[in-house]
Amino acid sequence: MAKAPVRYPAALIFGAPGAGKGTQGEILTRIPGFFHLSTGVIFRKLDPQTEEARRIKEYCVKGELVPDELTISIFLNWLEARRAADKFKPKQQLLLLDGIPRTVNQCKLLERYIDVKQVLYFECLDLEIMVDRIRRRAVLEGRPDDASESVTRKRLEIYERDTTPVLNYYDPAIIKRIDSSGLPAEVLAGCLQHLIPILKENFVFE
Ligand code: AMP
Repeated sequence: MAKAPVRYPAALIFGAPGAGKGTQGEILTRIPGFFHLSTGVIFRKLDPQTEEARRIKEYCVKGELVPDELTISIFLNWLEARRAADKFKPKQQLLLLDGIPRTVNQCKLLERYIDVKQVLYFECLDLEIMVDRIRRRAVLEGRPDDASESVTRKRLEIYERDTTPVLNYYDPAIIKRIDSSGLPAEVLAGCLQHLIPILKENFVFE
């Protein structure tokens, strides 16, 4: 497993599939001071010819979670490659983790590498909004795991069962609730309100 020299400060973008995490991550990563990483995106970018990518796809198409050790190892390798290429600049950028950790075991495995400063909890109380977002994304992005409604419902169930306990792992004081059913601009404003103080506390900007 790749070794990180320091624990990187990070904020989690946390929430159910379809809650709008990826949209915000993509906007925020364009703002100086943030580096967004999504494990779902990393998995979809793996070379499909490799054994690893084939194994991962088997889980993704069924809506199941990829095993923890494999997930963490791919995540760390990806992160270290970005750091080595000077794309991720740990002294100047807060990591925004989207889609990881997804189990309490992943939280524990990440502890050595990642210092979670804040959890942005994207709450979307309307299940149908999420199902609808996923349905539209299936058309736009051609994602196989979004295409079937039964797989979507299964992902939402797994989120409830395996991923929501992640919230209990962290200090309640660092969990910030964001209503993610609003306009992207409104959700962005909510995120920035919480993230800017974290940037100021952890980085020096010239
Ligand atoms: P996402 O794009 O975040 O919805 O992720 C797509 C799929 O990738 C998920 O349904 C899982 O099969 C897999 N996946 C992404 N992140 C993780 C993770 N942290 N742990 C396990 N599986 C993951």
